[in-house]
Amino acid sequence: MSSRLPRGALIKGRLTLKQALLTLLIATLISLVAGSLELLSHAKSMRASIEQRTQQQLAIINGAAAEAAFQLNPQLAEQIALGLFNDDDIAFVAIQDDFGRTLATFESPTPPPSWLAEALFGDILDYRTPLRYHLDDTLPTSRVGDIQLTLDQRYLTAQFLARGYSVVGVSIVEAFLLSSLFIAFFHVYITRPLLKVHAAISQTDPAHPARWPKPTLRGHRDDELGHLVESVDHLLHEFQRGLEQRDHLHRLSRHDGLTGIANRRYFDTFLAHQWEQAAATHAPIAVIFIDIDSFKAFNDHYGHTLGDDTLKRVAKALDRCIDSQSDLLARYGGEEFVCVLPGKDIHGALSRANHMRQAVMALAIPHARGAADSVLTISMGVASVRPTPGESPDRLLNEADARLYEAKNRGRNRIEAFISV
Ligand code: GH3
Ligand code: MG
Ligand code: MG
Repeated sequence: MSSRLPRGALIKGRLTLKQALLTLLIATLISLVAGSLELLSHAKSMRASIEQRTQQQLAIINGAAAEAAFQLNPQLAEQIALGLFNDDDIAFVAIQDDFGRTLATFESPTPPPSWLAEALFGDILDYRTPLRYHLDDTLPTSRVGDIQLTLDQRYLTAQFLARGYSVVGVSIVEAFLLSSLFIAFFHVYITRPLLKVHAAISQTDPAHPARWPKPTLRGHRDDELGHLVESVDHLLHEFQRGLEQRDHLHRLSRHDGLTGIANRRYFDTFLAHQWEQAAATHAPIAVIFIDIDSFKAFNDHYGHTLGDDTLKRVAKALDRCIDSQSDLLARYGGEEFVCVLPGKDIHGALSRANHMRQAVMALAIPHARGAADSVLTISMGVASVRPTPGESPDRLLNEADARLYEAKNRGRNRIEAFISV
């Protein structure tokens, strides 16, 4: 479990980072497109207003400039031309008479060519307007010269760029704020709840999945995250049910249905394992075969139901005589039991067998047709050996079984033991 938590931390970083990068990318693209559109529209309106303003300026000074051209008055022409030239956005002004001779001219140094200026304003920089003089009301106006004007493309471009920088700057700030909002929203509403679910699953004990610390995701009860938690909860409960069924079947496969003690199959597994251990450590291992005396007669006399009940009582009494941590008592079949005592030599096993015999007699179950006594008794065969590697436990079982047979033959309610040399 501990190895999963740092992985959770990595997931946290990755998901938020991915989302942040994606949001920033989208916001930047959107602000680039929006900024470009705004700049385009700004360029369009700037061009229209420049053209309109220039035409107005030319219209305003047309009368005075025509007067200067008509009078061929260079001083007046220069005054008018200078008035125009003083405007920051004008780079060249010239007033000519109707023969094309220059009366006044002003010109700023020509800036180096710029593709941006050309693209934006290249076609609206130059103006040439005829100067019309109105002598008196009876005559039509006549052309007395021209005024030429060129706008300062460097000045206009600088103005456009100043506006452009502010548009781009605002777009970037907008994109940043929008991204931050999205990232915060995503983190609070998606990443953090997901991390909560992840942490809860990481803390879940695989042995008890239904006891997982089911997270409460506030505000997500009816959405996908809420459904995810419910699905995981359902799954873990089903998983728990499966584990319980498995454990139940496992218990059934190891225990005898009537008496509740181990069954013959588990006895075989247990003995094989303990036998190997004893062989490896050169320790003794003992087996006791136990058989209820005259049980057929008991059944015949008291009935099968009481017989079953008696089997249970005997099993319980025998079970109390063993150390459940190390030993095993199993129902071998019918009214026979077997006990495995790892580490016990014949003396230890005999003392345990005596204890068992006393315990069953202490139950004082009346047996009107008992061959050995008026109460229910048991006979036992005991054997203990030190297994050698590769040897099978058959010898031990055969010896204990033979001793049981002997005990029966010698009158029942007794213990016979096999002493190995
Ligand atoms: P012995 O002293 O020689 O052991 O005589 P016994 O009658 O106990 O031996 P036998 O093997 O002839 O009979 C065993 C009887 O155990 C037969 C059967 O009626 C009884 N028995 C076996 N299994 C059960 C059981 O599950 N329930 C009950 N009630 N009786 C059982
Ligand atoms: Mg028997
Ligand atoms: Mg018997």
